[in-house]
Amino acid sequence: MATPRNHVPLAEQVEELLAVGGPLPIVAAGDPVLRRVTERFDGQLDPALLARFVEALRVTMHEAPGVGVAAPQVGVPLRIAVIEDPAPVPDEVRVARGRVPQPFRVLVNPSYEPVGSDRVAFFEGCLSVPGWQAVVARPAEVRLTGEDEHGHPVDEVFTGWPARIVQHETDHLDGMLYLDRAELRSLSSNQTMAERWTQPTPEEAAQALGFELP
Ligand code: ZN
Repeated sequence: MATPRNHVPLAEQVEELLAVGGPLPIVAAGDPVLRRVTERFDGQLDPALLARFVEALRVTMHEAPGVGVAAPQVGVPLRIAVIEDPAPVPDEVRVARGRVPQPFRVLVNPSYEPVGSDRVAFFEGCLSVPGWQAVVARPAEVRLTGEDEHGHPVDEVFTGWPARIVQHETDHLDGMLYLDRAELRSLSSNQTMAERWTQPTPEEAAQALGFELP
């Protein structure tokens, strides 16, 4: 009888995952691993294996392409995510969304809390929900605490698009998908997005589809 997957030690599971090489397969919505609260990282992977895992997450994020990948999205229930956003967008989009470049970062055991009460709403998508985007209102500014990949403490305020990315990825580590927080009436296919909702803000979409903005 096969051992249930969740009884395989995490290090063994990660070794197996990395054995193939190249980008890792991304788990899609409906898989319970995306709905579990992940385990805090506490040395379950030795430093060499952690470094290989982080590199595989980076390659997977670039290949997708995406601006973040959380460990559960490759089937690993650990509190680790990577983010990076070169932000290749026109100036008016950059200004409206605060989409400034975010260098590569590893988030280990991250948590966030809102700074102030400002909320901002924009379309976002998720590699685990391919083909769709929806508007999510989120705190404009958050304080992120946790560690980096070397175990050094992190305590930093994020604003603009990077604040959205760290919230989205940290939510994954709590078993949450962006759809849990989305205005469902805004749900749009990638094709409809490209045809209709390329404006810097979702105001026109809110009027046409009938959802509220903060
Ligand atoms: Zn996601």
